[in-house]
Amino acid sequence: MNRVYNFSAGPSMLPLEVLEKAASELVCYGESGMSVMEMSHRSPDYEAIINDAEAMLRKLMNIPDNYKVLFLQGGASTQFSAVPLNLIGRTGKADYVVSGQFSGKAFKEAQKMGYDVKCIATTKDDNFDHIPVVTKDMVRPDAAYVHVCFNNTIYGTKYSYIPDTGDVPLVADMSSCIISEPVDVSKFGVIYAGAQKNMAPAGLTLVIVREDLLEYADPKMPTMLEWKTMAENGSMYNTPPCYTIYMAKLVYEWILGMGGLEVMKEKNVKKAAVLYEYLDNQNYYLAPVKPDSRSMMNVTFVTGDADLDKKFASEAAKAGLKNLKGHRSVGGMRASIYNAMPYEGVEALVAFMKKFAAENPKA
Ligand SMILES: *Cc1c(COP(=O)(O)O)cnc(C)c1O
Repeated sequence: MNRVYNFSAGPSMLPLEVLEKAASELVCYGESGMSVMEMSHRSPDYEAIINDAEAMLRKLMNIPDNYKVLFLQGGASTQFSAVPLNLIGRTGKADYVVSGQFSGKAFKEAQKMGYDVKCIATTKDDNFDHIPVVTKDMVRPDAAYVHVCFNNTIYGTKYSYIPDTGDVPLVADMSSCIISEPVDVSKFGVIYAGAQKNMAPAGLTLVIVREDLLEYADPKMPTMLEWKTMAENGSMYNTPPCYTIYMAKLVYEWILGMGGLEVMKEKNVKKAAVLYEYLDNQNYYLAPVKPDSRSMMNVTFVTGDADLDKKFASEAAKAGLKNLKGHRSVGGMRASIYNAMPYEGVEALVAFMKKFAAENPKA
């Protein structure tokens, strides 16, 4: 076995222990005589799996009892439509903060539906190199919700604070930072996340929604997008993404086993610090993100020369450090160092960066 350090932004690395555990029960799960992939989602074995997954996530994130946990399909992008459809009925208008590409897409999706949506803050003119300051007085008091993207996967920025939106529910896309550190769920009306960054393989979308927010859906909306229907049916209105939920359960178990999100955060802080400390103390690479907005999960940097950037990514791949090429829309490099990336992987990356800088002097 020759596993590489995979810096992909998503789908991304999964913990080796989790993959090995899944492999060990892939063909035959417990006493069931079948694979989890082959099970009816209504069987007692599978019910135990999904119930455990929810219980573990509740414990991990300390989710209050008045929040529902939904395991859905469709990716985070489907929630760009589901969020307005489920919530706009509260007041008929919604506010958005555009801090990168995904929050921009979410904003456009709500606009497309013809709702009264307003972009209350954006850092577009600064190439999304930092997170905007959002204060209560910027929010329309009669907005149904305020939507933010908590960690901008493409640009490598993250909120260092939870915006105070007063009584207006805060809705956060946490696709690329979910379960990377503790977060006070009670400060949010809705948290959603695609699983394939930090939680499981692709195919699962997590929605955590405060119960009182289930009452505002347009009755004509597609049933499959309606959180209330999904909540009332325990995420089983139709067939849920069974195997991916099982994988998420193994990941939750892995984090609980090491002590929970406080411990996970400690590890993630340490990993990101190695990389940023190096970036701050050399002058070959440039880290475009403002220090107060730096992401702990996605670290972006450039050489300032597109050809060198290309060479960096290809030589790194040959050295067993894969998928360091930045997003196609921004170029440069991006190291995604989610929960499953070991400390040694980041050390290896920094060693490679030093070597590359020494061997490739700029003209
Ligand atoms: C990846 C990503 C998305 C898109 O997720 P899909 O599951 O592919 O729809 C949305 N938001 C953020 C923050 C992401 O990182």
